[in-house]
Amino acid sequence: MSDGPTYGFDTLQIHAGARPDPATGARQTPIYQTTAYVFRDADHAAALFNLQEVGFIYSRLTNPTVAVLQERIATLEGGVGAVCCSSGHAAQIMALFPLMGPGCNVVSSTRLYGGTVTQFSQTIKRFGWSAKFVDTDDLDAVKGAIDENTRAIFCESVANPGGYVTDIRAMADIADAAGIPLIVDNTSATPYLCRPIEQGATLVVHSTTKYLTGNGTVTGGCIVDSGKFDWSANDKFPSLSQPEQAYHGLKFHETFGPLAFTFHGIAIGLRDLGMTMNPQAAHYTLMGVETLSLRMERHVENAQKIAAWLESDDRVDYVTYAGLPSSPYYDRVKAHYKKGAGALFTFAIKGGYDACVKLVNSLEIFSHVANLGDARSLIIHSASTTHRQLTPEQQEAAGAGPGVVRVSIGIEDADDLIADLDQALSKATA
Ligand SMILES: *Cc1c(COP(=O)(O)O)cnc(C)c1O
Repeated sequence: MSDGPTYGFDTLQIHAGARPDPATGARQTPIYQTTAYVFRDADHAAALFNLQEVGFIYSRLTNPTVAVLQERIATLEGGVGAVCCSSGHAAQIMALFPLMGPGCNVVSSTRLYGGTVTQFSQTIKRFGWSAKFVDTDDLDAVKGAIDENTRAIFCESVANPGGYVTDIRAMADIADAAGIPLIVDNTSATPYLCRPIEQGATLVVHSTTKYLTGNGTVTGGCIVDSGKFDWSANDKFPSLSQPEQAYHGLKFHETFGPLAFTFHGIAIGLRDLGMTMNPQAAHYTLMGVETLSLRMERHVENAQKIAAWLESDDRVDYVTYAGLPSSPYYDRVKAHYKKGAGALFTFAIKGGYDACVKLVNSLEIFSHVANLGDARSLIIHSASTTHRQLTPEQQEAAGAGPGVVRVSIGIEDADDLIADLDQALSKATA
């Protein structure tokens, strides 16, 4: 189908990027389980290698099944192009790679997925990059952290481990004024709840492992480009604005215009970093995306009910869910996240660390796993697992203190989930 702007989200999540297979008429997108593609002739091969013609060469760079997923996610996010890769963490490196260089930094929110805190505070140093962490509610601190070597601002929309939503418009205004891109990790919100590009984001990254796939089967990532950033406006982004030796001096921005970042991601990023998504993973994720809106609606409805029930329970100290009127971010949700605050939140129980451990051990429907965005409900004690690499200060800043558990509410019957929490809370706080 031609995906004009007239189609609604529910239609696009099923059709965008796909059409019946030209070879067989297969209605569902086939899994193109192939490494290489036969060139028509030597001239065709040369044109492909020179980036003069778009086509398939080798599946480290492009694959037809993965291409459908890329176009589908780009369409749902309102971007001009997307590059899929092997995981959400790969997507973050792939997003930063064309922007950064030794000595460069990214100004990043403190409210992040635990693995991202580790990636940004430790691992990227090996590339000579660094991150400056700031509280994104303190706009002056965000502005103050930007220096001449800053190449991007990074934040999550609905932030992990839950209870916080970012004012993306405010972040975008600061990035615009500084002439740098805003990167938003939209994993927990998905484009159904939040479309960061409409609020001024330059790039959107995803762990497709989570809600987009929706059933805990495969890892994957995606970078979506808004196509709106002028990479040649200053000399900060030479990978995109200056001649690329590996392609005979081609300048990506001059040659590909709004698609410069996407082409660079494939022609340099995937070619040389090799963090490729495989076609099987793309297939599972395409299956998931077809029902994204239906699932997200139920995820949010269940989360809302369960958060309210927990908040009213005496065994619970507090609940941080931005969809509750008690949350300081409730008005922000009403203004910018009209379809809800996601299905991820934390709550603290009386009895601290030990009671949390007893709680996760006593639940029957909830699974104790290091994942989120699954159809089934999940729980984790962040301080002893995903966030244990962090210092106590970093744990508190990330909303993952010792007495707190994080839940990812699934799409089961809300009453069954409440009953499960009820019996486990009794055991934990006995
Ligand atoms: C899971 C997750 C990641 C990392 O994604 P992987 O697919 O596990 O590499 C990044 N950001 C957020 C918000 C996540 O939930």
